Amino acid sequence: MMPSVVKTTCPYCGVGCGVDAIVDESGKVQVRGTADHPANLGKLCSKGSALAETISFEDRLTHPQLYGSQATWDDALSSIADRLKKIIERHGPDSVAFYVSGQLLTEDYYVANKLMKGFIGSANIDTNSRLCMSSSVAGHKRAFGSDTVPCNYEDLEIADLVILTGSNTAWCHPVLYQRLVKAKRERANTNNPMKIIVIDPRETATCDIADLHLPLNPGSDTMLFNGLLNWLNQQQVIDKEFVSKHTEGHEQALKNAAWHTPTAAITAAHCGLEPEAVETFFHWFAKTEKTISVYSQGVNQSSSGTDKVNAIINCHLLTGRIGKPGMGPFSFTGQPNAMGGREVGALANQMAAHMDFDGEDIDRLQRFWQGERMATRPGLKAVDLFRQVEKGTVKAVWIMATNPAVSLPDNSQVRRALDKCELVIVSDCVNTDTTDFADVILPIQTWGEKQGTVTNSERRISRQRKFIEPPEGTRTDWHVISEVAQRMGFTGFDYQSTHEIFSEYCELTGFENDNSRDLDLSGLKDLSAEHYDQLKPVQWPVKKAEAGTSHMFTDQRFFTGSGRAQFVAISPRAPANLPDDKYPFRLNTGRIRDQWHTMTRTGRSPRLSAHTVEPYVEINPHDALYLTIEPGDLVSVNSQWGKVIARANISDHIKPGDVFIPFHWSGKFASQALADSLVNPATDPVSGQPEFKHTPVAVSRYTPQWHGFLLSRKRISLINTSYWCCTKRYGLWQYEIAGEDLPENWASAAREMLCGPEQNKNWSEMFDSAAKQYRGARFVDGNLAACLFISASPDLPARDWLIDLFAEETLTREQRLRVLAGTPAQNDQDRGKIICSCHSVGFNTIKQAITEQQADSVEKIGEITCAGTNCGSCVPELQSILEETLVTR
Ligand code: SF4
Repeated sequence: MMPSVVKTTCPYCGVGCGVDAIVDESGKVQVRGTADHPANLGKLCSKGSALAETISFEDRLTHPQLYGSQATWDDALSSIADRLKKIIERHGPDSVAFYVSGQLLTEDYYVANKLMKGFIGSANIDTNSRLCMSSSVAGHKRAFGSDTVPCNYEDLEIADLVILTGSNTAWCHPVLYQRLVKAKRERANTNNPMKIIVIDPRETATCDIADLHLPLNPGSDTMLFNGLLNWLNQQQVIDKEFVSKHTEGHEQALKNAAWHTPTAAITAAHCGLEPEAVETFFHWFAKTEKTISVYSQGVNQSSSGTDKVNAIINCHLLTGRIGKPGMGPFSFTGQPNAMGGREVGALANQMAAHMDFDGEDIDRLQRFWQGERMATRPGLKAVDLFRQVEKGTVKAVWIMATNPAVSLPDNSQVRRALDKCELVIVSDCVNTDTTDFADVILPIQTWGEKQGTVTNSERRISRQRKFIEPPEGTRTDWHVISEVAQRMGFTGFDYQSTHEIFSEYCELTGFENDNSRDLDLSGLKDLSAEHYDQLKPVQWPVKKAEAGTSHMFTDQRFFTGSGRAQFVAISPRAPANLPDDKYPFRLNTGRIRDQWHTMTRTGRSPRLSAHTVEPYVEINPHDALYLTIEPGDLVSVNSQWGKVIARANISDHIKPGDVFIPFHWSGKFASQALADSLVNPATDPVSGQPEFKHTPVAVSRYTPQWHGFLLSRKRISLINTSYWCCTKRYGLWQYEIAGEDLPENWASAAREMLCGPEQNKNWSEMFDSAAKQYRGARFVDGNLAACLFISASPDLPARDWLIDLFAEETLTREQRLRVLAGTPAQNDQDRGKIICSCHSVGFNTIKQAITEQQADSVEKIGEITCAGTNCGSCVPELQSILEETLVTR
């Protein structure tokens, strides 16, 4: 039998790449990029390429749980409906809330929103997309009257100038980065080369393709773009006809810009930039008609994120660079279906189908849904929602496919809130930090098991399709929500399929629309089940059957009352809290290349986990020197909201005074690495988006009494550690550990952890009291089952050669002795930190190719080592290793 090929969509970032899932007759899955999907044209990044490794039923939730005991679905759903009804009867509709996620499919989102806003009668439904792009939504609505992304991905390739602001595209939207790299390379020796500017306080991997990097002070983006607006006005780089006929409010916007940033030099001083660099940016923008301004989390995640978005859009409005190919403001969304949530109204301050909380829209929705009790005003946005849970105003919260105990700012407050809450319902596929607080846990189907649609950053709707049978006992989100709605006594929820839900949603988008709303999918409302099943990727609006729209605002008509775009006068504001004597550093948080969110899926892939094994704190060498922090040290970072311990990563890619911590490590993977526990819960007054990029923190060296690591075929319970993190590596678990008290008897502690009741069985050890080093290993049937290395200093043996030894069926006597000595044989040299996840090529191997085999280009490194020859996500790192090594070769 031929393997079946199912076309679906990647469940990670907002690029929304098409994925072919190839399932053979034994059920084994392989993936490849869908060659004809317009988002990725066959490419996948490292995360997408490793998707097959993350499909596992291990640790899956397969039974509902009610108050800690296994329950039937019937009991769990009836109990939820009953408790929600009682709470609403007693305390009103605003006493309950849903906190949902960009991982939900549009059909799931639609049903959840309909239940809350049309039947329960509250708007207390917010999505975790609040944390990544709600400032873009608010900025779009202020400027265009609608949450519309005007551009598409092809515009990136035909633009002559691409400005990436607050976007580490190379790591966070890798396939778009690769499309940019290709386009830039192809146009390099033509008379129409492409220029790229990166605006980011950090020198990220994306700077590898930058013609100009502006490392501005965190939070100063509004100054920079106000400065640009004023300068364009001074130079009369204005599309006067467009401004006069199609916009409003430019006078005040220009006045504000002139007041705050009268010259390029003053703008540069505000932003901490070289005046010449700022002038270059201004000149390039002024003279390049085809300019795209991309913005992402670095812009959105701020207490003035909405102003930043509008400061960027203002510059496009002044120059009329919108609604035409190769130009426009372009927000990249973080999650696979953040856009779908925006469309169906899963943000607390929006109604479904891009409608609002005005009387006409509420009435329209009520008639369409036959809603029993309509929400009439915006609900609680994420941060406020959990504050009200703690205060007891919200008494029941249903959390779907997200992990707020890890991902929200000041998450110790979230944990307190969940602990106190009368009813916490969590729908998820695995246990998370958040399920630890749940009264009811519902086991849900996940990627590959469920069906529906998602929308990517360019408004393109794609199908996610089922290609494996879900574990018995699990259900889909839309089904579970519909069941609860019906048990609460509501009609209009007897859906039998996602096709039915999709048709209803499409019909709603066209209902009494008459071009008054941007989102119109009426061309898809009559799709048969078969056509829905075969739906090809299409960009909304879709007014005629499957005929999408590549650009918005081509008619220069906007969705405001006057039909004109709105300039917004921006008065730059400082971040909510500034560094002071107690907290002198600025914390920035973000993503790393090979992990996704709280690692519940990517943490299952050994290849992905190999790239960055430990949580880390990136710190500038000058700061490290001042704080006596050396490479490999542990670092303690404190804010007024929390504390993190992580490994120092000393790098001049970050400015003095700034530190960066990735946010992926949850309590399931590390002892104290919840980056978002440190984050200031201050929010943007318009969008409600929190300030993830600018929290004052204190940094110090953390000096435990001992350091160590442990490799084991099984997950284990650690003892005596004050710091740990764990990572899944090829069939085993790697633990990095440290502690404040040296156990009196290391041998017995080690045996207790790694041998269980058979404490002495097959355990070999060495103890060097003078050097304060302990090494132990368990050999079972000739192979290595576990090993542990402890030392008073962080200088410990390399891990990767030991990991390779676990794959050997039988170790020789010499190999066993080498394990205990902690020294590899000559031909077992450590390959070093993994750089290329696809081919498991380490730093040392790459360096060797450059120094010993004369590799002088990334392509040559690829030929020698295979690094960078599959998905290409590691190419910026290969380039930087090459450049650094060539200097010293
Ligand atoms: Fe998935 Fe990578 Fe594509 Fe994002 S860029 S959708 S993570 S394959």
